[in-house]
Amino acid sequence: MDDHDVATNEEAGEVRRFWGGLGLPGLIDVHTHFMPERVLHKVWEYFDTNGPLIGGLGWPITYRKGEEERTALLRGFGVRAFTAMLYPHKPGMARWLNEWAADFARRTPDCLHTATLHPEPDVETYVREAVEAGARVFKAHVQVGGYDPADDLLRRTWGLLAEAGVPVVIHCGSGPAPGKHTGPEPIARVLARNPKLRLVIAHMGMPEYEEFLDLAERYDQVRLDTTMAFTDFTEDFMPFPSRALPRLAALGDRILLGSDFPSIPYPYLHQLHALERLDLGPDWLRAVCHDNAHSLFGL
Ligand SMILES: [Zn+2]
Repeated sequence: MDDHDVATNEEAGEVRRFWGGLGLPGLIDVHTHFMPERVLHKVWEYFDTNGPLIGGLGWPITYRKGEEERTALLRGFGVRAFTAMLYPHKPGMARWLNEWAADFARRTPDCLHTATLHPEPDVETYVREAVEAGARVFKAHVQVGGYDPADDLLRRTWGLLAEAGVPVVIHCGSGPAPGKHTGPEPIARVLARNPKLRLVIAHMGMPEYEEFLDLAERYDQVRLDTTMAFTDFTEDFMPFPSRALPRLAALGDRILLGSDFPSIPYPYLHQLHALERLDLGPDWLRAVCHDNAHSLFGL
């Protein structure tokens, strides 16, 4: 065992103490990234450049490891269920990513079968196929995909997903850097047409936290994931407004733990401490770190 393994084991122990102390059976993390190794390495290479899509920030990847080691780490932390957030940056790629994700879910029983989409002529067909094949969550990335989520090409697909009740984790806030179609306005148009669509707003909608809380208050199937929010890293450049804390407390049944593991610039434990120090109490933490996702996904 080298120094790094010792550090990892120590962290696993601390993560387990966190959820054990809350009386939980483990964590459910709705925002973890698994994708074909070649694609993940490309993403990591991008993070290494401090490029504009990540706001030009220094972003050292804490868990830059092979796939098996990454799943072992999550299991070591006591994450009982997680996802394989993957997303295309151009047309013609989603179907292939979905095939990979279906296979990953088959060989990784604790991963919720994940799928993705992009506005393109065959999107409705492959989304229906993925749902029929058992996809339990979708990931959409408005900034990287560079599309308007209210695009006509997606109109019937959102309807299909709303009907099927399959949650969609959507990165649509303008953080860490804005895109042409990021922000609450295009999402508000999608929700106006599909009020029952189960959108999970990634990263608490950062930095438009309050505008996305408005949408969650207006639509009872809108949820938010905590991914990277409230951490020291994010608070430095896109702080969560403290005046909105009571709204977080009131929406305690619609906030879900997400981490962005493995591509995070700090240890996993820090996301949990960042939630704890909001001081919203143990009931709130239990709901966010486990119970809300447990009921949403019928686990
Ligand atoms: Zn992510």
